[in-house]
Amino acid sequence: MDLKKNDELVIIIDDLGSQGEGIGHVDGYALFVKGALPGERVRVRLMKQKKTYGFARLIEVLEPSSERVEAVCPVSSSCGGCTWQHISYREQLAFKEKRVRDCLTRIGGVDLDRVTWLPILGMDEEPWHYRNKAQFPVREDERGIPQKGFFASHSHRLIPVGDCEIQHPVINQVIDTILKFMREYHVRAYQEQEHRGLVRHIYVRHGYHTGQIMVCVVINGSSLPHSEKMVERLCKIQGMTSIYLNVNKEKTNVILGKEMKRIYGDPYIEDTIGDIRYRISPQSFYQVNPRQTEKLYQTALSFADLKGDEIVWDLYCGIGTISLFLAKNAKHVTGVELVPQAIENARENARINGIQNVEFHCGSAGEIAEKLYRNQDLGTHRQKSQKANVVVVDPPRKGCDAALLDTIVKMQPDKIVYVSCDPATLARDVKMLGENGYRLEKVQACDMFPQGGHVETVACLQRVDM
Ligand code: SAH
Repeated sequence: MDLKKNDELVIIIDDLGSQGEGIGHVDGYALFVKGALPGERVRVRLMKQKKTYGFARLIEVLEPSSERVEAVCPVSSSCGGCTWQHISYREQLAFKEKRVRDCLTRIGGVDLDRVTWLPILGMDEEPWHYRNKAQFPVREDERGIPQKGFFASHSHRLIPVGDCEIQHPVINQVIDTILKFMREYHVRAYQEQEHRGLVRHIYVRHGYHTGQIMVCVVINGSSLPHSEKMVERLCKIQGMTSIYLNVNKEKTNVILGKEMKRIYGDPYIEDTIGDIRYRISPQSFYQVNPRQTEKLYQTALSFADLKGDEIVWDLYCGIGTISLFLAKNAKHVTGVELVPQAIENARENARINGIQNVEFHCGSAGEIAEKLYRNQDLGTHRQKSQKANVVVVDPPRKGCDAALLDTIVKMQPDKIVYVSCDPATLARDVKMLGENGYRLEKVQACDMFPQGGHVETVACLQRVDM
């Protein structure tokens, strides 16, 4: 069949791609269709052709899937934040679980019949309003009025949005308060093309269990006119704990600049997970779905199956969340993390919770693990690092540093608990570890991002005698 751009076709969707896009076939040629679901008959327009596959735009759903639901947000298909709103929550969970399975078998080469597979942990309550962190760009609309929104795909054209339905409501309230302040005091939003104007981004974080709020206004300048008025208004919102200006005068897509100026309250906010209290700085990573985070960490704890005499390393430890969770059941935990502010938080968090059998090191996981393994000096915070029996890793999407995997394989811990936010890199690393004496024993996917396509997985690998 000869296909060309702009051709209209009617196809049946028979699979789902890694980003949640529907896949249909025409004479064996695969077409990716954003917004279409398996089982649906759809009319599409061909947009782009490659040799073995192409991309088509959904024009009309002729026969909808029983799992299709009305998207809550009017911009769900274009904003890119939560592109799965048209899929029932039950089906979102099924797709996520399938994606983890597919990655582990296709990329990881794992025989899943030999693995204990635990059903994905979804949210028990409404899978909305769960996020504890928002970062919205702010730009002027054509009338010069500051708006928050998102960038249209492949551009920096701002599409204004109202309340974001996956955010905790107080986050929307904080952002509205700042936009209202800007409009009344004629504080200009950033204009990217001219590199003029002031407010670039509004960044808000909320401690779900404590109600504490942190606000950070990113500005293309050194100060914010009438900022005392903004602070006054923000402080009327219950829980306001910490307000920063962040100076970012660069022509860049990176949101935060280097300089943080605290204009109100504490340098951090606090939140609790289980019975542990955590301090969180603006630069530190913290899981965005607090109601699911506890389930995720409980899974890591249960997979680690600590008896009390283990030496544990927690690599990519952030503010020490998992480290402190594990410490009560271990002899000693060593955490490693790249971001200095997160390591400061981690040490402070150990102190405020009275947890002493932990130490934290700042640096790249690959380099620091190698030094720990070789027993090299790491400076002042050294206590008694020994080789680990249990290693926990929780890397960013790109997966574990190759050097770290090498060190783990040399060190031969009994167990590796891998917390992953990308099943493809998890599967790649599981394959490497599998070739070096570690068998995948248990897998538990956990939904941290309802309405979006990302999936979190905890995997347990056990050393086998080769
Ligand atoms: N376990 C933590 C953090 C997980 S997110 C939690 O659950 O909260 C991944 C963390 O890895 C981030 O804090 C990030 O700053 C850190 N990171 C990224 N690259 C790193 C590297 N090469 N070495 C050490 N840490 C790194």
